[in-house]
Amino acid sequence: MTGAALPKPAMSLEARLQDARVRILYDRNLQPALSITPFAALVCWFIWGQVPSETILAWLGLKAAVSVAFIVVDRAYRRFADPADAFRWGAGYLVLLALDGGTWSLMGTMLTPMDRLDIVAIMFASVVGVGAVGGVNLAAHFPASVAFTTTLLVPVLVWHISHATPVALFAAGGTAFYLALILLNGFRTAQSTTELLRLRFRMDEVAEQRAEALRHAERQSAVKSQFLATMSHEMRTPLHGMLGTLRLLRDNPKVADGLPQLDLIERAGEHLLGLINDVLDFSRIEAGRLEVRSAPFDVAALLRDAVELSSSAAAEKHLELHLDAGLPVPAWMPGDAPRVRQVVLNLMGNAIKFTEHGAVTVSARIVDGRLRIDVRDSGIGISPEDLTRVFDPFQQVDSSYARRYAGTGLGLSISRELARTMGGDLVCESAPGQGSVFTFELPWKPCPAPEVVPDVVVSEPARPLAGRVLLADDNPVNVLVAKGMLEALGLDVTVATDGVQAVASYLGARPVVVLMDCHMPQMDGYEATRRIRDAEVRNGWPRVPVIAVTANALEDDRKRCLDAGMDDHLAKPFRKEDLRVRLEPYFRQG
Ligand code: ADP
Repeated sequence: MTGAALPKPAMSLEARLQDARVRILYDRNLQPALSITPFAALVCWFIWGQVPSETILAWLGLKAAVSVAFIVVDRAYRRFADPADAFRWGAGYLVLLALDGGTWSLMGTMLTPMDRLDIVAIMFASVVGVGAVGGVNLAAHFPASVAFTTTLLVPVLVWHISHATPVALFAAGGTAFYLALILLNGFRTAQSTTELLRLRFRMDEVAEQRAEALRHAERQSAVKSQFLATMSHEMRTPLHGMLGTLRLLRDNPKVADGLPQLDLIERAGEHLLGLINDVLDFSRIEAGRLEVRSAPFDVAALLRDAVELSSSAAAEKHLELHLDAGLPVPAWMPGDAPRVRQVVLNLMGNAIKFTEHGAVTVSARIVDGRLRIDVRDSGIGISPEDLTRVFDPFQQVDSSYARRYAGTGLGLSISRELARTMGGDLVCESAPGQGSVFTFELPWKPCPAPEVVPDVVVSEPARPLAGRVLLADDNPVNVLVAKGMLEALGLDVTVATDGVQAVASYLGARPVVVLMDCHMPQMDGYEATRRIRDAEVRNGWPRVPVIAVTANALEDDRKRCLDAGMDDHLAKPFRKEDLRVRLEPYFRQG
């Protein structure tokens, strides 16, 4: 028969118990059995001259042979024993023990001259002593106790009965009582040993099951993270095409007029993008990979900006929207501005969503060295029992199918995780019908304004750029969108649809900047970048800025791009303004 050996089936609990008992037998018996052998020599010396010397020597030889057999079998067991064969190894050892017991019993029978009472007494005591040693060492394995003690004591018992003197009969009675005692004790000890072993194996099993469950959960979680990353990539790509084409259309004076529907589609696309971003954030939190960056930002300006952004949503519901920023102006602090904005916008979005009448107020204060941003509303409020779970992922107070308010239930859990990762916290006080106050706290460490204020909002009207960009992307819709945006910025565009073309175009066109998609046929963007860098080194050319343009928005993706020699990373979908911010530093204004 050919083929791979079948995997061994897992051993049953009973088989494992059998194996453990046999192991204990081997482990505990050898040393005492060998160390008592010199005692046999002492006995021989003691009875020398009282019993024919050939009998004594024959017995000593037999004792030595049994001891050697013990050593040989023990060695063989340690080398070759297989847990599945425990029964056979155990049975073989019982035969040896019976032989040993029988050999010792000769000491109390054939080597005992019954006419010498003193020798009878000493031999009897010796047999009792050997029985005690065996009884203690073999107690964990009842059949072993039986094999040794019965072959030791039963012949002695019969021997004494056959002599029928009062002393012999007394010795026979004592031997019978002693045998019963040893067997009873052996039985009980073996039972409790088996119970302890059973308990240990059960605990091992439970521990193994828990470890397996953990491994399974980790595998599942890795698969889920991979799934989310892939899905988000796949969804971002067409979304980028959709939103980009839409914005190009809207910027086109011929079609822009009278098409408010374009705004509607754009808002729906933005909403979808928000959902994808939430799912991505959630998977980062799950994988313990939520990272925040730190750069100076003006928190007062950020709050003004957030209120401005939410004002149309509040106006649609006829809600008042107030900003009460009790902060120094400007209020620069180090932190992750986009993430702070994300939390504030989420709290404001919820406040507007769950309020039908009244007002939403954003206030900011410095309290005990901490920046405290309160988002207060006069909406439906939250009951005490719901308050305990609104920060859990996918939790919504009203989770029925007919619920009134849309949402995924991810926003608050992401916001609190973000707040905590930034060294702060997010808490809520609320009561049904009385509105809610969400308090977002951050450590307050004011810092001076940076010398160059970062490009948060691009000043309009912007002047056109001039120069050549190499755009490497295999997706025709993405090419259409990006090319349209680049041309609208005033740039000349060379298009390559795979990595090989990208390298060739770079060598031919020598663009000012390369926009590189990461996943392309023939050769991916990472390899193409490496080849461009090699060509630069070989020819002594200056380093061309390579900006990765990819739908992979995870931090790892960014790192992978930088490791491949790219300079920056722009996640799809992006707007024309995002492109301008990235490109402007590399072009002289036209
Ligand atoms: P989503 O708003 O997408 O459902 P969130 O995590 O932002 O998810 O909010 C979870 C739930 O907490 C909401 O569904 C809502 O039941 C409750 N909630 C959040 N903010 C408010 C608020 N300002 N007033 C009343 N309930 C709120």
